[in-house]
Amino acid sequence: MKLLIPGPVELTSDVLQSMSRPPMGHRTPDFEEILENCWDNLKNIFQTKNDILIITGSGTSAMDAAISSTMDKGEEIICIGGGKFGERFIEISDAYGLISKEVKVEWGDGVTLEKVEDVIAESNAKAITLTHNETSTGVVHDGRALGKLAKEYGLLYIMDGVTSIGGDEVEVDKWGVDICITGSQKCLAGPPGLAMMSVSNEAWNKIDKKDKTNYYLNLASYKRALIKKTTPYTPSVSLIYGLQASLKNVVKEGLQKRVKRHRTLAKATREACKAMNTQMFSRENVASNTVTAIKIPEGITDDDIRGRMKRDHGILIAGGQAQLKGKIFRIGHMGNVGYSDIKDALTSLESVLIKSGHELERGAGIKVAEDIFK
Ligand SMILES: *Cc1c(COP(=O)(O)O)cnc(C)c1O
Repeated sequence: MKLLIPGPVELTSDVLQSMSRPPMGHRTPDFEEILENCWDNLKNIFQTKNDILIITGSGTSAMDAAISSTMDKGEEIICIGGGKFGERFIEISDAYGLISKEVKVEWGDGVTLEKVEDVIAESNAKAITLTHNETSTGVVHDGRALGKLAKEYGLLYIMDGVTSIGGDEVEVDKWGVDICITGSQKCLAGPPGLAMMSVSNEAWNKIDKKDKTNYYLNLASYKRALIKKTTPYTPSVSLIYGLQASLKNVVKEGLQKRVKRHRTLAKATREACKAMNTQMFSRENVASNTVTAIKIPEGITDDDIRGRMKRDHGILIAGGQAQLKGKIFRIGHMGNVGYSDIKDALTSLESVLIKSGHELERGAGIKVAEDIFK
């Protein structure tokens, strides 16, 4: 089965092979060297001089750590909604007894700074969260503009870059992101199971002052371990082998080239799908570069499309989440996805749409994609 979902993504054989090595002791100079290599490459990819932490846990573990290690019970936090992952920050904040103030955004739309400022004006918030690339709706928000706003109001800026880091432009230091989070299994094309995050000095100051109310994901413990070039508990050594190999591939391709490839894949997917007479779910001006959300045409079911893609063509694409279940399908074009993968997927999608009774001009979508890839 070929994975064209927004994570996990297909892994290259060097990444797979790296994980078959026997685990080494995690408190050894050899492992320290591997960690340092990962940190260095991640700093490059995040475009930051801030500390980098690697957590054994999926992306959500770093979201949890970011909130629970910086914020005190009863403190206000502004969370930008507009999708399942944006809302996850609200759920985490609520679970730790914070007062979350949601910036409501229509799903499929990008957040406007006016809306954020309205919420800032009537709150006493200490932090703000943004899901830079909202995977559930195929929307990329303006992480740079939000960073500027956050600094203006002295807010700690926590950004989920899980489906943008390594696939779209992110400049942690220039944007003023205090805590930036990503996961191993998305644009970086590593194995699922690791979360990586950058932490600024301002964030460390807040973490240092906070009463300890969590344990395993307490970032203060991570900082103490970092000084000794290690992790606080036994990390998944095998997954870190895989991460190291995948980061090497990212650096080898070059970040700019990689981002450009993702942009081209996204454009081709969008334009081809439009040429196949389907509609995009997200607004054009905020369309994601790593995942495309497409409306399921009238009279066709989710299984008509995704079921047939899977059964007849061996391609796994994603469905809609939460209220979008059965209304959209999503094509992930992140990680190692190449032009030929998307051409194949679009050819399969055309045949699936025709079989489902959808009217379209045969070959039109593929032609549009081919022209974009030229
Ligand atoms: C995948 C994803 C996450 C993390 O999900 P996990 O399943 O915990 O890895 C967080 N945010 C976004 C935007 C994602 O796409």
